[in-house]
Amino acid sequence: MKQQLRVGVIGCGAIGREHLRRLTDVVPETIVTGVADYFLPAAQSAAEMFHCTAFQTGEDLIVSPDVDAVVVTSADPSHAAYVLEAIRHNKFVFCEKPLAQTAEECQQIIAAEQAAGKKLVQVGFMRRYDRGYMAMKHAISSNEIGAPLMIHAAHRNMSQAPGFETDYAVTRVAIHEIDICRWLLDDEYATAQVLGVRQSSRTSGEWLNPQIMMLTTRSGQRIDVEVQTDGAYAYDIQCHVVGEDGIVSLPDPTSVTKRAAAAIHTPLMTDWKDRFIEAYDIEFQEWAKSLLNGAPTGPSAWDGYVACVTGDALIRSRQTGKPEDIVLPEKPEMYQ
Ligand code: NAP
Repeated sequence: MKQQLRVGVIGCGAIGREHLRRLTDVVPETIVTGVADYFLPAAQSAAEMFHCTAFQTGEDLIVSPDVDAVVVTSADPSHAAYVLEAIRHNKFVFCEKPLAQTAEECQQIIAAEQAAGKKLVQVGFMRRYDRGYMAMKHAISSNEIGAPLMIHAAHRNMSQAPGFETDYAVTRVAIHEIDICRWLLDDEYATAQVLGVRQSSRTSGEWLNPQIMMLTTRSGQRIDVEVQTDGAYAYDIQCHVVGEDGIVSLPDPTSVTKRAAAAIHTPLMTDWKDRFIEAYDIEFQEWAKSLLNGAPTGPSAWDGYVACVTGDALIRSRQTGKPEDIVLPEKPEMYQ
Protein backbone atom coordinates (compact mmCIF):
# COMPACT_ATOMS: atom_id res chain seq x y z
CA MET A 1 0.00 0.00 0.00
CA LYS A 2 1.20 3.52 -0.82
CA GLN A 3 2.17 5.59 2.21
CA GLN A 4 1.87 9.06 0.66
CA LEU A 5 -0.44 10.66 -1.87
CA ARG A 6 0.92 13.15 -4.38
CA VAL A 7 -1.61 15.98 -4.57
CA GLY A 8 -2.10 18.78 -7.10
CA VAL A 9 -4.11 21.89 -6.19
CA ILE A 10 -6.00 23.92 -8.83
CA GLY A 11 -6.80 27.46 -7.64
CA CYS A 12 -4.27 29.30 -5.46
CA GLY A 13 -6.61 31.90 -3.91
CA ALA A 14 -7.76 32.22 -0.30
CA ILE A 15 -8.81 28.66 0.45
CA GLY A 16 -6.36 27.14 -2.05
CA ARG A 17 -3.42 28.58 -0.09
CA GLU A 18 -4.98 27.44 3.20
CA HIS A 19 -5.31 23.89 1.87
CA LEU A 20 -1.77 23.97 0.45
CA ARG A 21 -0.46 24.79 3.92
CA ARG A 22 -2.70 22.10 5.42
CA LEU A 23 -1.67 19.41 2.91
CA THR A 24 1.99 20.29 3.54
CA ASP A 25 2.07 20.80 7.33
CA VAL A 26 -0.94 19.04 8.83
CA VAL A 27 -1.58 15.91 6.76
CA PRO A 28 1.36 13.50 6.92
CA GLU A 29 -0.18 11.30 4.19
CA THR A 30 0.01 14.01 1.50
CA ILE A 31 2.75 15.77 -0.42
CA VAL A 32 1.92 18.64 -2.77
CA THR A 33 3.56 18.04 -6.14
CA GLY A 34 1.83 20.65 -8.29
CA VAL A 35 -0.31 23.78 -8.40
CA ALA A 36 -2.23 25.59 -11.13
CA ASP A 37 -4.13 28.85 -11.26
CA TYR A 38 -5.90 30.84 -13.96
CA PHE A 39 -3.52 33.62 -12.97
CA LEU A 40 -0.09 32.03 -13.59
CA PRO A 41 1.91 34.28 -11.17
CA ALA A 42 -0.37 33.05 -8.33
CA ALA A 43 0.56 29.45 -9.22
CA GLN A 44 4.25 30.37 -9.54
CA SER A 45 4.39 32.04 -6.13
CA ALA A 46 2.54 29.08 -4.52
CA ALA A 47 4.94 26.65 -6.27
CA GLU A 48 7.90 28.55 -4.85
CA MET A 49 6.43 28.55 -1.36
CA PHE A 50 5.46 24.85 -1.38
CA HIS A 51 8.39 23.56 -3.45
CA CYS A 52 6.39 22.02 -6.26
CA THR A 53 5.65 22.46 -9.99
CA ALA A 54 3.53 25.33 -11.33
CA PHE A 55 1.48 23.92 -14.21
CA GLN A 56 0.29 26.17 -17.04
CA THR A 57 -3.30 24.86 -16.77
CA GLY A 58 -5.47 22.78 -14.49
CA GLU A 59 -5.76 20.19 -17.26
CA ASP A 60 -1.93 19.85 -17.41
CA LEU A 61 -1.89 19.28 -13.66
CA ILE A 62 -4.63 16.63 -13.79
CA VAL A 63 -2.88 14.61 -16.49
CA SER A 64 0.56 14.77 -14.81
CA PRO A 65 1.98 11.38 -13.76
CA ASP A 66 3.26 13.13 -10.58
CA VAL A 67 -0.30 13.80 -9.38
CA ASP A 68 -2.35 11.00 -7.76
CA ALA A 69 -5.18 13.18 -6.46
CA VAL A 70 -6.51 16.61 -7.37
CA VAL A 71 -7.89 19.35 -5.09
CA VAL A 72 -10.13 21.89 -6.84
CA THR A 73 -10.17 25.28 -5.11
CA SER A 74 -10.69 27.50 -8.15
CA ALA A 75 -13.76 29.70 -8.72
CA ASP A 76 -17.21 28.05 -8.64
CA PRO A 77 -17.90 28.04 -12.43
CA SER A 78 -14.70 26.05 -13.09
CA HIS A 79 -15.39 23.15 -10.67
CA ALA A 80 -17.46 20.76 -12.81
CA ALA A 81 -15.08 20.68 -15.79
CA TYR A 82 -12.04 19.95 -13.59
CA VAL A 83 -13.89 17.23 -11.69
CA LEU A 84 -15.00 15.60 -14.98
CA GLU A 85 -11.47 15.82 -16.34
CA ALA A 86 -10.04 14.18 -13.18
CA ILE A 87 -12.59 11.35 -13.44
CA ARG A 88 -11.69 10.92 -17.13
CA HIS A 89 -8.09 10.32 -16.04
CA ASN A 90 -9.18 8.01 -13.23
CA LYS A 91 -7.83 10.37 -10.54
CA PHE A 92 -9.26 11.06 -7.11
CA VAL A 93 -10.64 14.57 -6.85
CA PHE A 94 -11.58 16.69 -3.85
CA CYS A 95 -13.77 19.59 -4.97
CA GLU A 96 -14.55 22.57 -2.78
CA LYS A 97 -18.26 23.33 -2.63
CA PRO A 98 -20.24 23.76 -4.84
CA LEU A 99 -19.61 20.62 -6.88
CA ALA A 100 -21.03 22.41 -9.94
CA GLN A 101 -23.08 25.41 -10.96
CA THR A 102 -26.13 23.36 -12.04
CA ALA A 103 -27.85 20.12 -11.07
CA GLU A 104 -27.37 18.93 -14.66
CA GLU A 105 -23.56 19.26 -14.36
CA CYS A 106 -23.71 17.32 -11.07
CA GLN A 107 -25.63 14.56 -12.86
CA GLN A 108 -22.89 14.43 -15.51
CA ILE A 109 -20.33 13.98 -12.73
CA ILE A 110 -22.40 11.21 -11.12
CA ALA A 111 -22.75 9.47 -14.52
CA ALA A 112 -19.01 9.76 -15.18
CA GLU A 113 -18.12 8.40 -11.74
CA GLN A 114 -20.47 5.46 -12.19
CA ALA A 115 -19.00 4.78 -15.63
CA ALA A 116 -15.53 4.82 -14.03
CA GLY A 117 -16.87 2.09 -11.73
CA LYS A 118 -15.38 3.49 -8.51
CA LYS A 119 -15.79 6.40 -6.16
CA LEU A 120 -13.33 9.16 -7.00
CA VAL A 121 -15.07 12.37 -5.89
CA GLN A 122 -15.35 14.07 -2.49
CA VAL A 123 -17.04 17.44 -1.95
CA GLY A 124 -15.74 20.01 0.56
CA PHE A 125 -18.58 20.02 3.08
CA MET A 126 -16.15 20.33 5.99
CA ARG A 127 -18.76 20.94 8.68
CA ARG A 128 -19.30 17.17 8.79
CA TYR A 129 -15.82 17.05 10.38
CA ASP A 130 -16.45 19.78 12.96
CA ARG A 131 -16.35 18.27 16.46
CA GLY A 132 -19.51 20.17 17.50
CA TYR A 133 -21.60 18.92 14.59
CA MET A 134 -20.15 15.41 15.01
CA ALA A 135 -21.24 15.38 18.68
CA MET A 136 -24.73 16.60 17.68
CA LYS A 137 -24.99 13.85 15.07
CA HIS A 138 -23.96 11.27 17.66
CA ALA A 139 -26.54 12.53 20.17
CA ILE A 140 -29.31 12.43 17.55
CA SER A 141 -28.47 9.01 16.15
CA SER A 142 -28.15 7.49 19.62
CA ASN A 143 -31.65 8.79 20.41
CA GLU A 144 -30.53 11.13 23.22
CA ILE A 145 -33.11 13.81 22.29
CA GLY A 146 -35.80 11.51 20.89
CA ALA A 147 -37.15 11.97 17.38
CA PRO A 148 -35.82 15.23 15.88
CA LEU A 149 -38.66 17.61 15.02
CA MET A 150 -37.05 20.80 13.74
CA ILE A 151 -33.80 22.75 13.34
CA HIS A 152 -33.23 26.44 13.99
CA ALA A 153 -30.02 27.58 12.31
CA ALA A 154 -28.24 30.84 11.58
CA HIS A 155 -25.30 31.71 9.30
CA ARG A 156 -24.08 35.25 9.92
CA ASN A 157 -21.24 36.89 7.98
CA MET A 158 -19.55 40.25 8.49
CA SER A 159 -18.74 41.08 4.86
CA GLN A 160 -18.56 39.88 1.26
CA ALA A 161 -16.20 40.62 -1.60
CA PRO A 162 -17.43 43.10 -4.24
CA GLY A 163 -19.63 41.49 -6.90
CA PHE A 164 -21.66 39.44 -4.41
CA GLU A 165 -25.21 38.62 -5.59
CA THR A 166 -28.47 37.61 -3.90
CA ASP A 167 -28.32 34.01 -5.19
CA TYR A 168 -24.87 33.53 -3.64
CA ALA A 169 -26.59 33.59 -0.24
CA VAL A 170 -27.74 30.12 -1.27
CA THR A 171 -24.97 28.80 -3.52
CA ARG A 172 -22.01 30.05 -1.45
CA VAL A 173 -23.38 30.54 2.05
CA ALA A 174 -26.47 28.48 2.98
CA ILE A 175 -25.13 25.55 0.94
CA HIS A 176 -23.33 24.54 4.15
CA GLU A 177 -26.62 24.43 6.12
CA ILE A 178 -28.29 22.59 3.21
CA ASP A 179 -25.71 19.85 3.55
CA ILE A 180 -25.29 19.71 7.31
CA CYS A 181 -29.01 19.64 8.18
CA ARG A 182 -29.82 16.65 5.92
CA TRP A 183 -26.71 14.92 7.31
CA LEU A 184 -27.78 15.58 10.92
CA LEU A 185 -31.34 14.40 10.28
CA ASP A 186 -30.40 11.58 7.90
CA ASP A 187 -33.33 12.50 5.65
CA GLU A 188 -33.87 14.12 2.26
CA TYR A 189 -35.69 17.40 1.67
CA ALA A 190 -39.26 17.66 0.37
CA THR A 191 -39.71 21.43 -0.08
CA ALA A 192 -37.73 24.67 -0.02
CA GLN A 193 -38.84 28.24 0.45
CA VAL A 194 -37.27 31.66 0.93
CA LEU A 195 -39.12 34.12 3.17
CA GLY A 196 -38.76 37.87 2.92
CA VAL A 197 -37.69 39.87 5.94
CA ARG A 198 -36.89 43.50 6.73
CA GLN A 199 -33.60 44.33 5.00
CA SER A 200 -30.45 45.34 6.84
CA SER A 201 -29.09 48.81 6.21
CA ARG A 202 -25.62 47.38 6.87
CA THR A 203 -25.54 45.53 3.52
CA SER A 204 -22.66 46.92 1.46
CA GLY A 205 -24.16 46.12 -1.97
CA GLU A 206 -27.45 45.70 -3.79
CA TRP A 207 -28.23 42.10 -2.83
CA LEU A 208 -31.02 40.93 -0.51
CA ASN A 209 -29.82 40.56 3.08
CA PRO A 210 -30.91 38.92 5.29
CA GLN A 211 -32.94 36.06 3.88
CA ILE A 212 -34.77 33.30 5.75
CA MET A 213 -34.57 29.88 4.16
CA MET A 214 -37.10 27.21 5.06
CA LEU A 215 -36.75 23.51 4.28
CA THR A 216 -38.97 20.55 5.08
CA THR A 217 -37.83 16.93 5.07
CA ARG A 218 -39.68 13.90 3.76
CA SER A 219 -40.58 12.92 7.34
CA GLY A 220 -42.03 16.38 8.01
CA GLN A 221 -39.24 18.06 10.00
CA ARG A 222 -38.93 21.79 9.46
CA ILE A 223 -35.66 23.74 9.23
CA ASP A 224 -35.31 27.50 9.34
CA VAL A 225 -32.00 29.12 8.44
CA GLU A 226 -31.39 32.82 9.02
CA VAL A 227 -28.79 33.88 6.46
CA GLN A 228 -27.02 37.19 6.99
CA THR A 229 -24.48 37.55 4.23
CA ASP A 230 -23.16 40.92 5.31
CA GLY A 231 -22.99 43.41 8.17
CA ALA A 232 -23.38 40.94 11.04
CA TYR A 233 -21.67 41.49 14.41
CA ALA A 234 -19.34 38.45 13.89
CA TYR A 235 -18.93 35.28 11.84
CA ASP A 236 -21.46 33.37 13.88
CA ILE A 237 -22.84 29.91 13.11
CA GLN A 238 -25.73 28.61 15.17
CA CYS A 239 -27.60 25.32 14.99
CA HIS A 240 -30.18 23.90 17.40
CA VAL A 241 -31.88 20.57 16.75
CA VAL A 242 -35.14 20.23 18.69
CA GLY A 243 -36.22 16.69 19.46
CA GLU A 244 -39.21 15.15 21.27
CA ASP A 245 -37.17 14.72 24.47
CA GLY A 246 -34.59 17.50 24.31
CA ILE A 247 -32.40 19.82 22.27
CA VAL A 248 -28.83 19.61 20.99
CA SER A 249 -27.02 22.82 20.12
CA LEU A 250 -23.79 23.54 18.24
CA PRO A 251 -21.18 24.67 20.80
CA ASP A 252 -19.48 28.03 20.33
CA PRO A 253 -15.73 27.79 19.72
CA THR A 254 -13.67 28.00 22.89
CA SER A 255 -12.41 31.47 23.81
CA VAL A 256 -11.15 33.26 26.88
CA THR A 257 -13.81 34.78 29.10
CA LYS A 258 -12.84 38.15 30.50
CA ARG A 259 -14.43 39.54 33.67
CA ALA A 260 -13.81 43.26 33.97
CA ALA A 261 -15.63 46.55 34.50
CA ALA A 262 -18.60 44.72 36.04
CA ALA A 263 -19.18 42.62 32.93
CA ILE A 264 -18.32 39.28 31.36
CA HIS A 265 -16.85 39.49 27.87
CA THR A 266 -16.35 36.53 25.48
CA PRO A 267 -14.98 37.35 22.01
CA LEU A 268 -16.57 35.82 18.91
CA MET A 269 -14.75 34.85 15.71
CA THR A 270 -14.77 36.95 12.57
CA ASP A 271 -13.29 34.64 9.92
CA TRP A 272 -14.51 31.30 8.46
CA LYS A 273 -10.87 30.11 8.12
CA ASP A 274 -10.44 30.27 11.91
CA ARG A 275 -13.93 29.09 12.87
CA PHE A 276 -13.61 25.80 11.00
CA ILE A 277 -9.82 25.38 11.00
CA GLU A 278 -9.91 22.08 12.87
CA ALA A 279 -12.77 20.76 10.72
CA TYR A 280 -10.75 21.44 7.54
CA ASP A 281 -7.72 19.71 9.08
CA ILE A 282 -9.71 16.61 10.03
CA GLU A 283 -11.48 16.66 6.64
CA PHE A 284 -8.17 16.43 4.76
CA GLN A 285 -6.61 13.93 7.18
CA GLU A 286 -9.62 11.64 6.72
CA TRP A 287 -9.68 12.20 2.95
CA ALA A 288 -6.01 11.21 2.59
CA LYS A 289 -6.40 8.14 4.80
CA SER A 290 -9.49 7.01 2.91
CA LEU A 291 -7.77 7.35 -0.48
CA LEU A 292 -4.79 5.33 0.74
CA ASN A 293 -7.37 2.69 1.73
CA GLY A 294 -8.85 2.77 -1.78
CA ALA A 295 -11.77 5.23 -1.93
CA PRO A 296 -13.07 8.49 -0.43
CA THR A 297 -15.56 8.10 2.43
CA GLY A 298 -16.65 11.74 2.86
CA PRO A 299 -19.43 13.79 1.22
CA SER A 300 -19.99 12.35 -2.24
CA ALA A 301 -20.97 13.57 -5.69
CA TRP A 302 -24.54 12.63 -4.70
CA ASP A 303 -24.32 15.01 -1.71
CA GLY A 304 -23.01 17.73 -4.05
CA TYR A 305 -25.94 17.04 -6.39
CA VAL A 306 -28.59 17.18 -3.64
CA ALA A 307 -27.14 20.48 -2.41
CA CYS A 308 -27.40 21.87 -5.94
CA VAL A 309 -31.01 20.68 -6.46
CA THR A 310 -32.00 22.13 -3.08
CA GLY A 311 -30.24 25.41 -3.82
CA ASP A 312 -32.06 25.66 -7.17
CA ALA A 313 -35.42 25.13 -5.41
CA LEU A 314 -34.63 27.88 -2.88
CA ILE A 315 -33.68 30.29 -5.64
CA ARG A 316 -36.87 29.41 -7.59
CA SER A 317 -38.94 29.97 -4.47
CA ARG A 318 -37.54 33.47 -4.03
CA GLN A 319 -38.81 34.19 -7.54
CA THR A 320 -42.24 32.46 -7.24
CA GLY A 321 -42.84 33.45 -3.61
CA LYS A 322 -44.06 29.90 -2.90
CA PRO A 323 -42.57 26.70 -1.47
CA GLU A 324 -40.95 24.65 -4.23
CA ASP A 325 -40.89 20.85 -4.33
CA ILE A 326 -37.54 19.07 -4.24
CA VAL A 327 -37.64 16.04 -6.48
CA LEU A 328 -34.69 13.65 -6.61
CA PRO A 329 -34.14 10.57 -8.75
CA GLU A 330 -33.39 7.29 -6.99
CA LYS A 331 -29.99 7.35 -5.28
CA PRO A 332 -27.56 5.18 -7.29
CA GLU A 333 -26.16 2.10 -5.57
CA MET A 334 -22.65 3.63 -5.40
CA TYR A 335 -23.88 6.32 -2.96
CA GLN A 336 -26.13 4.15 -0.72
P1 NAP B 1 -10.44 33.09 -4.53
O1 NAP B 1 -9.67 33.69 -3.42
O2 NAP B 1 -11.06 33.98 -5.56
O3 NAP B 1 -9.48 32.03 -5.26
C1 NAP B 1 -9.83 31.34 -6.41
C2 NAP B 1 -8.57 31.22 -7.26
O4 NAP B 1 -8.86 30.38 -8.39
C3 NAP B 1 -8.09 32.56 -7.80
O5 NAP B 1 -6.68 32.63 -7.72
C4 NAP B 1 -8.56 32.52 -9.25
O6 NAP B 1 -7.78 33.30 -10.13
C5 NAP B 1 -8.40 31.07 -9.57
N1 NAP B 1 -9.23 30.63 -10.70
C6 NAP B 1 -10.42 31.10 -11.12
N2 NAP B 1 -10.87 30.39 -12.18
C7 NAP B 1 -9.93 29.45 -12.44
C8 NAP B 1 -9.81 28.41 -13.39
N3 NAP B 1 -10.73 28.20 -14.33
N4 NAP B 1 -8.69 27.62 -13.34
C9 NAP B 1 -7.73 27.82 -12.41
N5 NAP B 1 -7.80 28.81 -11.50
C10 NAP B 1 -8.88 29.60 -11.48
O7 NAP B 1 -11.64 32.18 -3.97
P2 NAP B 1 -11.65 31.30 -2.63
O8 NAP B 1 -12.31 32.05 -1.54
O9 NAP B 1 -10.33 30.71 -2.41
O10 NAP B 1 -12.68 30.15 -3.08
C11 NAP B 1 -12.30 29.15 -3.99
C12 NAP B 1 -13.37 28.04 -3.97
O11 NAP B 1 -13.43 27.47 -2.66
C13 NAP B 1 -14.78 28.55 -4.27
O12 NAP B 1 -15.44 27.62 -5.08
C14 NAP B 1 -15.44 28.65 -2.91
O13 NAP B 1 -16.84 28.42 -2.96
C15 NAP B 1 -14.75 27.55 -2.14
N6 NAP B 1 -14.66 27.85 -0.70
C16 NAP B 1 -15.12 26.92 0.19
C17 NAP B 1 -15.08 27.21 1.55
C18 NAP B 1 -15.60 26.21 2.55
O14 NAP B 1 -15.93 26.61 3.65
N7 NAP B 1 -15.64 24.93 2.25
C19 NAP B 1 -14.56 28.43 2.00
C20 NAP B 1 -14.07 29.33 1.06
C21 NAP B 1 -14.12 29.03 -0.29
P3 NAP B 1 -8.28 34.81 -10.47
O15 NAP B 1 -8.24 35.52 -9.17
O16 NAP B 1 -7.30 35.28 -11.47
O17 NAP B 1 -9.68 34.66 -11.00
